[in-house]
Amino acid sequence: MSAQQDGEVASPEVHAIGISFGNSNSSIAYTSNEGKAEVIANEEGDRYIPSVLSYIEGEEYHGTQAKSQLVRNSENTVAYFRDYLGKDFDSVDPRPCHASAHAKKHGSTVAFSIQDTGSEAHNSVTVSEITTRHIRRLASSASDFMGKQVNAAVISVPTNFTETQREALTQASKEAGVEVLQMISEPTAAVLAYDARSEAEIKDKIIVVADFGGTRSDIVVVASRGGMYSILSTSHDYETAGAQLDQILIDHFAKEFIKKNKTDPRQNPRSLAKLKLEAEATKKSLSLGGNASLSVESLADGVDFASTINRTRYEMLAAKVFASFTRMIEDAVRKADLDILDIDEVILSGGTSHTPRISQNLQRLFSPKTRILSPSTLPTAIDPSSLAARGAAIQASLISEFDKEDIEQSTHPMVTVTPHLRNAIGVMVVTDDIKKGLFTALVEKETAVPCRRVGIFVAPREGGDVIVKVCEGARDIKITKKEKSKTNGKAASDDSDLDSDDEEEDEEVREKIWKVGTVLAEAAIKDVKKGGKVEVTVHVGADLGVVVTAREVGAKGGVRGNLDK
Ligand code: ATP
Repeated sequence: MSAQQDGEVASPEVHAIGISFGNSNSSIAYTSNEGKAEVIANEEGDRYIPSVLSYIEGEEYHGTQAKSQLVRNSENTVAYFRDYLGKDFDSVDPRPCHASAHAKKHGSTVAFSIQDTGSEAHNSVTVSEITTRHIRRLASSASDFMGKQVNAAVISVPTNFTETQREALTQASKEAGVEVLQMISEPTAAVLAYDARSEAEIKDKIIVVADFGGTRSDIVVVASRGGMYSILSTSHDYETAGAQLDQILIDHFAKEFIKKNKTDPRQNPRSLAKLKLEAEATKKSLSLGGNASLSVESLADGVDFASTINRTRYEMLAAKVFASFTRMIEDAVRKADLDILDIDEVILSGGTSHTPRISQNLQRLFSPKTRILSPSTLPTAIDPSSLAARGAAIQASLISEFDKEDIEQSTHPMVTVTPHLRNAIGVMVVTDDIKKGLFTALVEKETAVPCRRVGIFVAPREGGDVIVKVCEGARDIKITKKEKSKTNGKAASDDSDLDSDDEEEDEEVREKIWKVGTVLAEAAIKDVKKGGKVEVTVHVGADLGVVVTAREVGAKGGVRGNLDK
């Protein structure tokens, strides 16, 4: 830093972290000196900190301690507030906080009426003030861990977070002493977390990021081309998330309790709160083992309750919700005008993505060539609950030294809707050996322009003239019917009820092929030497004009042509 001039006030050093601010949970992360993103545990040792605040006699509880207050002190416990920030009361769904402090109208926005000072008085605390208190607690945990005052952050938010919500979050964070350097979308953060790993191979690929959280699911289809990301489609759903899976277990155990005790624990708010907390814990255990137990002291009418459930039974009960996750992904791929076979990678993010059945269903949906990045399909997968915070921390370390203007610039190229190619551009090399030529895509569809790609082609075997055709290529799906062997009833697996369409129908084999379209340019290279190589460079400008260069590797000269689009 330059020496300070007389009278000049030194701006404080920026100590930035990544924050994932979820409606259910939040996480904080930092980037180590080695450039590795690490999630920070708070004072309770939690890396996934429930976005919950609770007040008892004026004392503030945060995270897991606050969440446990949903049983005894629900009216002074504020949960699921992120989605209310920056919104009009009339446009929000108040249902998620039925079991905690209720959302109330405050002017046009949302507030919670809670006893937060130690007196009997109920104060109307705005969602903005609650957010400030939450961010302050997160920043304080990070400061304790890092041994320096955290004063800035990159925060990950859902893809459909509006400008008003962003402004409200920026302001609420500022009140907490945290300057928001940037907000990045949760799926982008997940992609960054993977691509920042030292072993990551940055290549052109189409990625589906499936973020399954507690109260919502977000799917994003991203084209990664030359290290730039473009979002091709997004979809959200508030009816398919972890809360629906909790409800399935709540209903299952409630029915068992009713059978034995003739009383429904769901009718009493405190019994329901106890059952909900335990059902969620049971659900998480089922991601790890084949069996899980549930035990609640004095569930209803003073009666204790204990039971177990195995994973197969749970998967049957939740089959519809799991199918709905898969359907959301199919819809997002279709919305991006792509086929399942076009997807190179699926990143599973968010707490619910720990569920093995979700990954297994995706393994069936996608081709074996598609990498499914989740704990149950890939041992080296990053913990899905930590992806958003890690990605935010990486981005924070990249930009914390930038000026404000530069930060704004840096947001745009990272994920943007730049012009991109509707069709692939590829090359067919025609020689005496290969008369028809074989299409090789050089610039993939959806590549953001401007871009430049180089391809090297070995041709011809015996030497001679080579014709290079630069063509458009459209991806097509070839479907071949293959007779399927009959399944006998015995061979059907345990989860056959999940795939009841396993009949004797012919199997369809689907493969990706190229349909060669318009020839954009043709170049002839004379007398290429025996076993020689031809280098073709395609440059697509921002105006979609194409420049093609073809030359023999190691030889002088070449052919160059400009094509206007
Ligand atoms: P949202 O904003 O959608 O509410 P979030 O980003 O705040 O979600 P996450 O931590 O991504 O929260 O997801 C929370 C959900 O993940 C909860 O429903 C939780 O029960 C579930 N979850 C966490 N761990 C597991 C696990 N091991 N197995 C299954 N579900 C899990």
